[in-house]
Amino acid sequence: MRIAMIGTGYVGLVSGACFSDFGHDVVCVDKDAAKIDALRQGVTPIFEPGLDKLVERNVADGRLSFTTDLGPAVADAEAVFIAVGTPSRRGDGHADLSYVFGAAGEIARALRQPTVVVTKSTVPVGTGDEVERIIAAAAPDAKAMVVSNPEFLREGAAIEDFKRPDRIVVGTEDEDAAEIMREIYRPLYLNKAPLVVTSRRTAELIKYAANAFLATKITFINEIADLCERVGADVQDVSRGIGLDNRIGPKFLHAGPGYGGSCFPKDTLALLKTAEDHQAPLRIIESVVKVNDLRKRAMGRKVIGALNGGARGKTIALLGLTFKPNTDDMRDAPSIAIVQALHDAGAKVRGYDPEGVEQARPLMPDVEFCASPYEAAEGADAIVLVTEWDVLRALDLKRLSASMARPVFVDLRNIYPPEEVENAGLEWHGLGKPARD
Ligand code: NAD
Repeated sequence: MRIAMIGTGYVGLVSGACFSDFGHDVVCVDKDAAKIDALRQGVTPIFEPGLDKLVERNVADGRLSFTTDLGPAVADAEAVFIAVGTPSRRGDGHADLSYVFGAAGEIARALRQPTVVVTKSTVPVGTGDEVERIIAAAAPDAKAMVVSNPEFLREGAAIEDFKRPDRIVVGTEDEDAAEIMREIYRPLYLNKAPLVVTSRRTAELIKYAANAFLATKITFINEIADLCERVGADVQDVSRGIGLDNRIGPKFLHAGPGYGGSCFPKDTLALLKTAEDHQAPLRIIESVVKVNDLRKRAMGRKVIGALNGGARGKTIALLGLTFKPNTDDMRDAPSIAIVQALHDAGAKVRGYDPEGVEQARPLMPDVEFCASPYEAAEGADAIVLVTEWDVLRALDLKRLSASMARPVFVDLRNIYPPEEVENAGLEWHGLGKPARD
């Protein structure tokens, strides 16, 4: 199958590389010439485990290439995927569909044969109808079958997720288009990944419902963590106690500093806008969004509280800045709100992250970035563990403790047992556990 992937970001590049690995011929297109130049020179512009090798192998085998020139890539393709960004629109929180609609117009003008046009970007219900309308208006004679195929991969485990998905959702009422989608995903389908074929609108909504549900699960356990602190219970035991129930399941039940990243915050907001427009309010999700927003800053206050006498003039080391481990993505990371709260309280902030510093720098101009957790801790008044990177799971706590001005350790991921932290001479602060004497 000949495939054009429009948008070569986290989703487009991973999807394009994986499709080529299935044996398809894939051309990845992006408007960002620097990104395409880098890829052509063998440099992967994002950090995603295993991606370098996957791209390199498929480029070498001649199945994967990169271009800024959308026209020829689309003209030649049997399927064109739209994987451009759909950020929050400034001001109102609606999904900004300008990139999707822009790409649809460009695709329409380039179509030369019957083609399946697939929206992989996360788009509100009804976007497929609009894409179809744009294509029909720009190229009345073109035969395009517009399909929704939302992506569920997680950054940090994107290749594994793409190649071993829990399900593949295909939204189309057109049997020919469904057949082409089956062909594209055949290797996974043969591997027993369930293919869920629905109407286009249903597929669009499945993606938002999935993300909103996961965001709800995270927010639920975060509030239970707060209650645990007040009543002297342990949230990790509560999570285990409820998660072993098959109806609930153990995933997404880890208390933390609030969800962030490039998807949950914007997708929950966009879903609320869709609900509002259709007069079907989603009150649970409204609460989830509010609670999560407040939580990020509350984490900053928690750190300030741990310092007893306030944070003014104190030096605080943040370990892990990306919204989760194994990615360099800083979009809507909780660390941003935490840094803000600490600066507002007059603290000096140092930051360490294994991969995220380049993206963090412009978002946190007043943070001093350090090359290791130990450098960040030198002379600091508090350490805050924000993101659970592997290198932060096995810290030499005694070494940290010995180099700090004050031994305050705030573990926002509950990685270290309080006793271990205290045995290293540090004062433990975590989430959802009884207070220490
Ligand atoms: P991204 O910002 O990393 O990449 C988007 C790319 O599209 C950019 O490189 C941009 O230059 C390019 N682009 C924009 N308009 C273009 C055009 N007309 N022609 C060619 N290229 C164009 O975004 P992302 O994180 O990959 O997300 C893409 C979509 O996938 C979003 O809708 C997102 O919600 C969804 N999604 C993301 C994830 C994730 O984990 N990142 C997971 C599932 C779904």
